[in-house]
Amino acid sequence: EEMRGEASMDQSPRQVPGYHYSRVLPTPVADPQLLAWSEELAAFLGLERPPERGPAVDALAGNLVTDTMKPFAARYGGHQFGNWAGQLGDGRAMSLGELTATDGTPWEIQLKGAGPTPYSRRADGRAVLRSSVREFLCSEAMHYLGVPTTRALSLVRTGDMVVRDMFYDGNARPEPGAVVARVAPTFVRFGNFQILAAHGEKENLQALADYVIRRYYPELGAPSPAVYVQWLEEVCRRTAVMIAHWQSVGFVHGVMNTDNMSILGLTIDYGPYGWLEPYDPDWTPNTTDFGGRRYAFGQQPRVALWNLMMLAQALIPLVEDVQTLRTALDQYVTTLNETQHRMMLRKLGLTAAAEAAEADGALLSALPEALAEAEADMTLFFRHLSHAAPSLVTHPAIEEAVLQELLEATSYTEAPEKHQKLREWLGQYTLRLRQETAPPEEIRAGMLAANPKYVLRNYLAQQAIEAAGTGDLTLLNRLMLVLKKPFAEQPEHDDLAAKRPDWAREKPGSATLSCSS
Ligand code: AMP
Ligand code: MG
Ligand code: MG
Repeated sequence: EEMRGEASMDQSPRQVPGYHYSRVLPTPVADPQLLAWSEELAAFLGLERPPERGPAVDALAGNLVTDTMKPFAARYGGHQFGNWAGQLGDGRAMSLGELTATDGTPWEIQLKGAGPTPYSRRADGRAVLRSSVREFLCSEAMHYLGVPTTRALSLVRTGDMVVRDMFYDGNARPEPGAVVARVAPTFVRFGNFQILAAHGEKENLQALADYVIRRYYPELGAPSPAVYVQWLEEVCRRTAVMIAHWQSVGFVHGVMNTDNMSILGLTIDYGPYGWLEPYDPDWTPNTTDFGGRRYAFGQQPRVALWNLMMLAQALIPLVEDVQTLRTALDQYVTTLNETQHRMMLRKLGLTAAAEAAEADGALLSALPEALAEAEADMTLFFRHLSHAAPSLVTHPAIEEAVLQELLEATSYTEAPEKHQKLREWLGQYTLRLRQETAPPEEIRAGMLAANPKYVLRNYLAQQAIEAAGTGDLTLLNRLMLVLKKPFAEQPEHDDLAAKRPDWAREKPGSATLSCSS
């Protein structure tokens, strides 16, 4: 209520200066049908799985708006690929309002793909089934991996066709449309602050900062110039934790623009994301991110900092001393380094020991290059290493056999010279692992709890999408089930934890995606 919203229901595309959001109405679709439902999230929100068709699914598609809903689309701006893009806003997302979960906390429910808003610019406000399946599956998978993220409650097929320029051959062709209901405490982004600062709307800027602090950072106390700085520091800390998680599981966001950065440090906007298969810091799933590889895996920590700098810049009008904002930004680097180090030690089954700190630093920093050269599968490498840890500790001469097995199971190249660095690294690692005092089985258990067996491999998502398009939900359902327990062995699903098959290497969609997804 403190936030100024534009009340007109005019949904034609336009600039909306002076307001935080616009009241909107979803545009009805032909035949809403529930395809997927997140049982656990729903139970937490106090919701029961609705029948495939009916009023609940109508609401999740935007066909039914109850008196208790006040749908709105937010106004935000952003830097896209390093350039200020002006007003963007929720062009195909609209929030219906909030639900109170079973623990008393409020959660915002947002439909993605429910029709045009004042922020749709030249686009249609719709989402295709392909991108909706990807958002639905991945946001839930990330949650179960322990990565801070927005959630997805439902996936509804609309019964309408949507035209997108398909990346396969560049030809436009109709595809089935869908709506995902996503869920988060709030979807406020860095860009919500940026647009206000860019337009000199200082009162609105302060109102939004106060709203976010009072509601989502109450532990900071009443807003004041000093508290705005502490708040930025906390946003930096949370963003660093999120990025450390991404780097630890091999998630590549693909469109880290400032409008896609959550003010709560949640992974938000699942577009052309991807998962590292062969370890490669230069890999990006986004085919429109040419040249600079701005959003490649290895660039993510740096880009998040740059995005935080843009947020800090937007907050300048609220603080007394700009220097304090710079100091707050240091929190990002400190937390990122510390969290990444701690997470990597855990992945390797090592406990932090003061006397080993320097050697461990060298061991950890040598690993990325060794993995890249050996083209080792990010997920499989750490999983296999976890299983191998006890024999590395107890058998005096097993290292070479372990290396051969590791390479066989996880490397995408057979060239022996490419395995040399990993061989050397494994020797160093074995020596260090033997200094650990915990029983080998305990080390293994700790590593298995830190190194997932199952992630949403790019080609698996693509196969699930293709099947869902023909009405076959078997793989989608199986992935939902398996990705709920990514650290559990689930041997009956081994085929979902296999090395990427050769055929999936260059197939569009299986490895790379355009922004239009
Ligand atoms: P993204 O690259 O997904 O972060 O989107 C950037 C901007 O484009 C945001 O303002 C989106 O709301 C908007 N947008 C993306 N796709 C559509 C669409 N199909 N219709 C309307 N707006 C869209
Ligand atoms: Mg976005
Ligand atoms: Mg998007």
